[in-house]
Formats: sequence, C-alpha cells, structure tokens
Amino acid sequence: MAFESLTERLQNAFSKLRKKGKISETDLRGAMREIRLALLEADVNFTVVKNFVKTVRDKAIGADVLKGLNPTQQIVKIVNDELVAIMGDQAVDLNKSPKIPTIIMMVGLQGAGKTTTAGKLALKLKNEQKARPLMIAGDVYRPAAIDQLVQVGQQIDVPVFQMGTDVDPVEIVRQGLQKASEEKNDYVIIDTAGRLQIDEKLMDELARIKALANPNEILLVVDAMTGQNAVNTAEGFNDRLDVTGVVLTKLDGDTRGGAALSIRAVTGKPIKFIGQGEKMTDLDVFHPDRMASRILG
Ligand code: GDP
Repeated sequence: MAFESLTERLQNAFSKLRKKGKISETDLRGAMREIRLALLEADVNFTVVKNFVKTVRDKAIGADVLKGLNPTQQIVKIVNDELVAIMGDQAVDLNKSPKIPTIIMMVGLQGAGKTTTAGKLALKLKNEQKARPLMIAGDVYRPAAIDQLVQVGQQIDVPVFQMGTDVDPVEIVRQGLQKASEEKNDYVIIDTAGRLQIDEKLMDELARIKALANPNEILLVVDAMTGQNAVNTAEGFNDRLDVTGVVLTKLDGDTRGGAALSIRAVTGKPIKFIGQGEKMTDLDVFHPDRMASRILG
C-alpha cells in the first residue's frame, strides 16, 4: 500500500507524544527527529525534509503548543498543514486556451505512463466537459507506442492522428494540429517519445515540438514508485522544457511517498493529476489536503 511505512512511523511518533500528556521541548525534539527519519526513509528530498522539520518545530514553539491543551493534537495539525503546503496547498486546474484547441503535450521517461495517461486524460475531458479531444501519436521510436495509443483511442472512442514511424515527429504534430483545426477539436493531446533516461537528443526533439505547438500545458508524467529518481527526472525535464504540471502515476502501488512530497517543493511545479491504476478511469485531480490526510492515515 502507498505510504504504508511513512504513515506507520508518523503515527508512532505521535502516539509516543500522546502518552506523555505534558510535552517538554526534549520530547518535541525527539518527535521531530523521528519525523525527519520517517520522511528521509520515505525517500523525500533531503532539503525538503530539513525545511519541513524546521518549519514544524518553529511553528510548534512559536504557537506555544507545549503549554496549551492537547499539544499532540496541535502538533499533528501543524504537520498536516505543512504536508499540505509542501505539496502546493491547493489543486491546480489544467491550463485552458481562450480559443480552441487547448494543446496538451505529454512528456516523460519511457514506462512512466505517458501513453496511458494521455488516454485517461482524454477520457476525463470527454466525460466531464463533453470535450472532443484528438490525440497525436508523436512517439516514432517505439512502433508499439503508436499501436498502443491507437488501441487506447479505440477503447475510449477518441480519434488518434498518426503517420507511422518514418516521419519527423515535429511534422506529425504540425499535421495533427491542422487536422484538429479542420475537425474543430477542443483539446489536442500530444503523446511524445520517452527514453530510459534523459538525453540531449530527446530533449531537443521535445523542445522542437514545444516550439511548433506552443502548448498551453506541458504535463510531465513521472512514476511515483521511483522516488528521488522521479524528482531528478522532473528537474531535468523542467530545466529544459519549463513544464506546466506533473502527473504522478502508480500511486496505487506501494510507493514510499518521496516523489509526492518532493516534486512540488523541488521544481516549483504543481502536481495536477495522479494515476491510481491501469484502467482508463483511474486518473484523479491531485488534492494536497487529501494526500496529506492519506499520508497521516
Ligand atoms: P509510457 O512509456 O510512458 O508511454 O508508459 P505507458 O503508458 O506505456 O505505461 C507503462 C505501464 O505502466 C503500463 O503497463 C501501464 O498500464 C502502467 N501504468 C500507467 N499508469 C499507471 C498507474 O497509475 N497505475 C498502475 N498500476 N499502472 C500504471
């Protein structure tokens, strides 16, 4: 289960405090040490953990919680609020173009869940906004990727524009956008190539697609199971492409929590959606407060 160990360790730290009744500064320091270790073990970014612990301690001391009633309850609240804050406070909507189509470019490493998420997002827009999206198959390096997107399109009844694997992806995107304009599609979702790791050639290609398509949204898809690597990947893509949002996939797995808790703080970019399963309906808007509640258990 996601966050299992983090949740358990945080709850242990709080239950130790609760047993004390009155809490001394030493008790608080001990609890903060446990929280710090729990976060580090969950693979949360080191600087994020350091700032988190300092903020929680300063707030607890500043608010004189140790002298008040229910000090543990107040500390739990401060931790909760701070978890919400590092994840971005509030849900952030998709950027929308004032005139159709809104163009969304999906980027990310191979296997992160780009193609699946493109389909999930198309279905969500269709179901919730009665949108008429078009998906463009821009991953020409993996022939199976195009077939996969075509299959996803059939499954959710969303058209897919593709030109096979022998055409420059920038040209595919150009023609795909022309098609969308003719068909008056209100959303265009561009699936792009991924690699096992970030390389220059891939980044160049994505930058060229970005320059041509001028997308309203560049969604970086990252696998929550990869913890710190997800954060490093996010930094790499963001430095080069200035992404507008992140989709965190595979939160139905047993991720420790590092990616969810670090990405916003490290990159400054909001997590907009979370993938929680392999089905096309398994995509949800990311709510920092709900995620914090889930982590605290
Ligand atoms: P791409 O290479 O980035 O396009 O990745 P794919 O879309 O092909 O996804 C890789 C694998 O991850 C596939 O088996 C997907 O079904 C799976 N996947 C994607 N998102 C999720 C998710 O949120 N949860 C789970 N459990 N699996 C996912």
